[in-house]
Amino acid sequence: MKYFYGIALFLFQAMGFGQQQDKVDFTHAIINVGIDPYEQSIEGTVRYDFLILKNVDSVYLDAKNMVFESVRLKNKKVAFENNGKTLTIRYPFKSGKSYSIGINYQAYPKQTVYFVNWEHKMPSMDTSTVKIIGENLSGPEQVWTQGQGKYTSHWLPSFDDMTEKVEFDLSIRFDPKYEVIANGKYLGSSTGSDGTKEWKFDMLYPMSSYLVAFAIGSYEKQSLVSASGVPIENYYYPEDRLLVEPTYRHTQRIFDFLEAEIGVPYPWQNYKQVPVRDFLYAGMENTGTTLFSDAYVIDSIAFVDKNYVNVNAHELAHQWFGNLVTEEDGNHHWLHEGFATYYAYLTEKELFGEDYFYWKLYDSFIALQKMVEGGKGQSLLDPKASSLVFYEKGAWALHMLREQIGEKAFKAGIRSYLEQYRFKNVTVSEFLSDMETASGVDLMGFKKEWLENEEMPNDAIRKNLVAHSPSLASLFQLQESLANSPAKKFDMEDFWEIEGSGNLKEYILTHYDSVLAPEIIKSAFESAEIPLRRALAIHGNAAKLPKPEFESLLNDNSYVTIENALFQLWVAFPDQRARYLDRTKSIVGLPNKNVRQLWLTLAVLTDGYDGPNTKNHFDELCRYTGPEYSFEVRQIAFQFLKEAFGFTDGTLLNLVGATGHYYWQFRDFARRLLDELLEDEVYKQRIVTLSNKLKPEEKRYLQTKINQP
Ligand SMILES: [Zn+2]
Repeated sequence: MKYFYGIALFLFQAMGFGQQQDKVDFTHAIINVGIDPYEQSIEGTVRYDFLILKNVDSVYLDAKNMVFESVRLKNKKVAFENNGKTLTIRYPFKSGKSYSIGINYQAYPKQTVYFVNWEHKMPSMDTSTVKIIGENLSGPEQVWTQGQGKYTSHWLPSFDDMTEKVEFDLSIRFDPKYEVIANGKYLGSSTGSDGTKEWKFDMLYPMSSYLVAFAIGSYEKQSLVSASGVPIENYYYPEDRLLVEPTYRHTQRIFDFLEAEIGVPYPWQNYKQVPVRDFLYAGMENTGTTLFSDAYVIDSIAFVDKNYVNVNAHELAHQWFGNLVTEEDGNHHWLHEGFATYYAYLTEKELFGEDYFYWKLYDSFIALQKMVEGGKGQSLLDPKASSLVFYEKGAWALHMLREQIGEKAFKAGIRSYLEQYRFKNVTVSEFLSDMETASGVDLMGFKKEWLENEEMPNDAIRKNLVAHSPSLASLFQLQESLANSPAKKFDMEDFWEIEGSGNLKEYILTHYDSVLAPEIIKSAFESAEIPLRRALAIHGNAAKLPKPEFESLLNDNSYVTIENALFQLWVAFPDQRARYLDRTKSIVGLPNKNVRQLWLTLAVLTDGYDGPNTKNHFDELCRYTGPEYSFEVRQIAFQFLKEAFGFTDGTLLNLVGATGHYYWQFRDFARRLLDELLEDEVYKQRIVTLSNKLKPEEKRYLQTKINQP
């Protein structure tokens, strides 16, 4: 999995459970389910084949809040117990014998399965409410799963335990207007008597049940084939055809590179990538079927500001590290996230060069050092460690391991580790032992310094960065001389002229912008490198820098540059506002509409600008708070309204609606903002008056806020 912006969560914890079921080996599951997006329910059958290893009087499955119509053993109904958490089947199971159980079930998953944007499609929906909540509800209708940490057992009787690996073959029935994508090879479809279509998928090998997944929506796909012959399918919304190339840029190179670098063939039959609306993370590596946030669906201009490359490589690397070999439990989480992060960095090194790689390592080192200095250092073997530790410290540990034992031994060790434990579970000790065998090096010291240590081995890290990256060596020199004589006027030119590092220049522009010599500013403006000019737009001061050069930033192929330049110029030169707005009026920007939303705000705030359309501009900004837009769009719209204009009745209703959103970060944002508004008596009265237009659950939430003492 990959988090947005390194937010720390501990979702993998508590994968263990009370009972032990080591006397039973489940081998195969045939799942046949129908999904009702209006009822938000899943019903169907699952058949499990299993082998009994020791005589037992019962077997059980994890099954949250399900209803079971019948359970059959050897095709005869058997008694079962359902306590709302597990399904237990009592029977004298004999050691050495194989059994098969068939389960008919219905689930109303409260988590793990997300039903997005179906409400307004409901035949029974009262259209008068639709009009109030949003004028034109037309967000993409989707159903998709996110099983990690939240448990597949909320929609499928299965195993809240990563060590039970099963071959899962899925068949899913749904409205034929949509596309259904799931793990495995698509075998074809058939149409049922009720008009639904059934999509059938086949897996060849076993996986842990948290990796079972499906996604349903309106999709088309781009098909590629890897150098080794693996089919790769890149899915996209039908209207996003022109965004396929920039969104999935380098996909084939990433695939071919990782397969060669890891040295073990890609383990699954095919690889699919599917964008979904308001995903809870950046991406999730379900077996052969990565789901990722559609906030990464971008055009060519956005590529320089935000792209999918790192997430693409990270989730693909998990197909080996996590999916093929799976951690025994949370104590070994480094074997998933550290590895996926490290191999994504190696991929970026291949695509963008050495310097890029070492500056990424440097950035994560700085973040980790801050954490340690704040007294929050953690060991990589701590199952409760933060994502920063598992991902970034984890990647550093692998980088330094490779430095210590050499590339040849490292690659040989990785190969033998993946081959020995394929389709099984692993521990950190087993990994280290394979690396020791491959290298002949005792890794006790490595384990102490990198895995058990709660701090960061700073000296070793700096030494490594200096040895590999001339530009980082220069940065350290620069930092040292500034620290030794802070009062001294510093000649930046010595550092500016260092060959080959855009990263160093960007760093200097970002951190020392106020003390730079005019020649350096000039050289940055004249540079064709977008990141340098972007640093000027963000950190430079439009009132103090040369005006024509600053205005030229409005033409750059970077939406972050344009957004920052527009705002700075608008503030610095009030008499030129109309001109700046005219130049940027047709730009939408990143998937969160950063330029458009700023433009609308500034257009309304600029006296006399486009007067007849002022109301339209304001209405458009208000519309972006509605549920038909992604939470990234909505959050920016709410913020601009809060800072510049205040809220209309419609946007207040959208805000209350957002307090129940399934994505916790957006939900928390909306709840905090609502709390703030409720402190204001006028807003409070308005919201109370509007509450008869709220849905029952929204009304209930509002009641708890208003009745607070
Ligand atoms: Zn990951």
